[in-house]
Amino acid sequence: MISSMSIGSDDRLIALLVLLLIPTVLGWGKEGHYVVCKITQEYLSEDALFAVKQLLPDSAHGDLAALCSWPDEIRFHYHWSSASHYADTPDFLCNYQYYRDCHDSYGRKHRCVTGAIHNYTMQLKLAYADASSKFNYNLTEALLFLSHFVGDVHQPLHVGFTGDLGGNSITVRWYRRKTNLHHVWDNMIIESALKMFYGSDLSTMIQAIQRNITDIWSNDVSIWEHCAHNYTTCLDWYASESVSLACKFAYRNATPGSTLKDEYFLSRLPIVEKRLAQGGVRLAAILNRIFTSKTGIAQA
Ligand SMILES: [Zn+2]
Repeated sequence: MISSMSIGSDDRLIALLVLLLIPTVLGWGKEGHYVVCKITQEYLSEDALFAVKQLLPDSAHGDLAALCSWPDEIRFHYHWSSASHYADTPDFLCNYQYYRDCHDSYGRKHRCVTGAIHNYTMQLKLAYADASSKFNYNLTEALLFLSHFVGDVHQPLHVGFTGDLGGNSITVRWYRRKTNLHHVWDNMIIESALKMFYGSDLSTMIQAIQRNITDIWSNDVSIWEHCAHNYTTCLDWYASESVSLACKFAYRNATPGSTLKDEYFLSRLPIVEKRLAQGGVRLAAILNRIFTSKTGIAQA
């Protein structure tokens, strides 16, 4: 009995270790997406909140954040969606251009994170602007994909270089742990911050970011939200910011084989927290523009 119990525990331990070792290569980790969508919910208009709650499945209990990592979980079933999580640029070019960079690994155009954001924004807009339209989209999936990809486009290494797969092929150590640079930006910086500054409590981290939004970044929020020409999203702008930050902060002093410690962590954490805040505020602004009154839709 004792031996069979211990074998069972070992099996569970191995299963857990295997789960922990699977790299999350396709987005902010679960925590990052949760933070983005929690912030979003604070900034939704009444109309948008109503529409979002109507589209969410019952299992979410009205909480968008609970499902913002769903596109990462179904990436093996929806194989076509893999390229929609990022938009890499030619190596060492610190700028982004939609027509040059938005394609999948086969070169098929519009298959990238910005193309996907545009696609799902249009699906939701068309359906809500004309409820009787003949368009037959799965709007719940459109909402979840849009929410996830707006988060992803704010992760600097989701607009990284093609040659190193947005940092995925750059092996580094995060303190003592062997990992890759992309994973550092998806997960490790957030995980280390949770342990070191937020008592391992994600809601404390979210509150701290929200305080910054209403305090030190309060003058910037209207600039983050703004889109020229009444556009619903400024996706090319978000992607350009990311590749610029990838060059200035993510790739810098993170050559293959390097060990990243306090100096890298403490100087990059403010960038990560600001990108999570911008992702959250902008997703709310996009949803508010999509799910607005008929007059608003007609203007947009
Ligand atoms: Zn993703």
